[in-house]
Amino acid sequence: MSTKDYLEKDYYKTLGVPKTAKSDDIKAAYRKLARKYHPDANKGNVEAEEKFKEISEAYSVLSDEKRRKEYDEVRSFGGFRVPGGNRGGTGGFGGFDLGDIFGGTGDAGDRLGDVLGGIFRRGGGQGAGPAQNRARRGADVETEATLSFSDAIDGATVGLRLTGEGPCPICHGTGAKSGTVPRVCPTCEGTGHENRNLGNFAFTEPCKTCHGRGMVVDDPCETCHGSGRAQSSRTIQARIPAGVSDGQRIKLKGKGAPGERGGPSGDLYVRVHVKPHPVFGRTGDNLTVTVPVSMPELALGAEVKVPAHRSAPVTVRIPAGTPNGRVFRVRGKGVRRKDGTNGDLLVTVEVAVPQDLTGKARHALEDLRAATAGEDPREELLARAREAS
Ligand SMILES: [Zn+2]
Ligand SMILES: [Zn+2]
Repeated sequence: MSTKDYLEKDYYKTLGVPKTAKSDDIKAAYRKLARKYHPDANKGNVEAEEKFKEISEAYSVLSDEKRRKEYDEVRSFGGFRVPGGNRGGTGGFGGFDLGDIFGGTGDAGDRLGDVLGGIFRRGGGQGAGPAQNRARRGADVETEATLSFSDAIDGATVGLRLTGEGPCPICHGTGAKSGTVPRVCPTCEGTGHENRNLGNFAFTEPCKTCHGRGMVVDDPCETCHGSGRAQSSRTIQARIPAGVSDGQRIKLKGKGAPGERGGPSGDLYVRVHVKPHPVFGRTGDNLTVTVPVSMPELALGAEVKVPAHRSAPVTVRIPAGTPNGRVFRVRGKGVRRKDGTNGDLLVTVEVAVPQDLTGKARHALEDLRAATAGEDPREELLARAREAS
């Protein structure tokens, strides 16, 4: 659209709304007309197509506050100023789905805006709209959290400090120095894309002038140097569910970076580190503990006291002749599961070899050695080794 277009065309009349019309009324009028004249509903009807282009063009200007202001100015001042070299263009509507207009309800404003973005800002009329006007889902964010052993079992609420990119707080994401506004990119006319034709194929690539933003900034914001983006950090309280294990990555839906222009928030992924416990280990829902025992306890049998997590010690009965390293299961003394039941405590017995023996114990052991002198515990092993070679 040029200044000449602005002077010659009465967009208010095209949409059948007064000059004082509110944006909602303009939207409603456009929707009504767009339904009526949409090319898919008027196949082969050139007049309807022309009409549709006209109302689309009118709406592209009147629905954009800034462009509407420019339009009004040009019309009232006789076209002295070319509004930012902006020739947004009505473009094609090849990729425009009729269902998007017909399907929406009266307040599906965002969706309609999306569809319109797709029509108005693109020459080719295919694919997605511009970077500028579309609702955008916030980015997914990754962070880490370190939990104590007990918090990992029970679940915990932790404060997570998130740093990420957001709109620059000084220019509110426009990238323009305060007091100035960005203007529509003259190279891509606001689409953010450049179309290149190679033979029969049309390629679309991000516009090099504006880097796909559709807008250019003459006086860049000093804080973000015109990017419109800035690093920000915030702290959120996140609930880590019960039963997470070390190294696990959990997803907290909607806790990532906030969306833009009404888009949904991204997700937050938390890599969980669990501090080791001085006594207990964990495998899934089971807790593990290694308990020292004496050789006579294993050989003769015994009842031994074993520590349990958050409970009084439990007694494990060791049968006579228990080999070193055997694992005993104590039911219900493990991690509480979601269904309210508990995992088990797995107790590994490990012979503690006495480091300094008193005279009586030393004598008893020497007697034991003498009494079992005829039994070589390695006899069978050596025999097997001989057979195998
Ligand atoms: Zn551009
Ligand atoms: Zn800025």
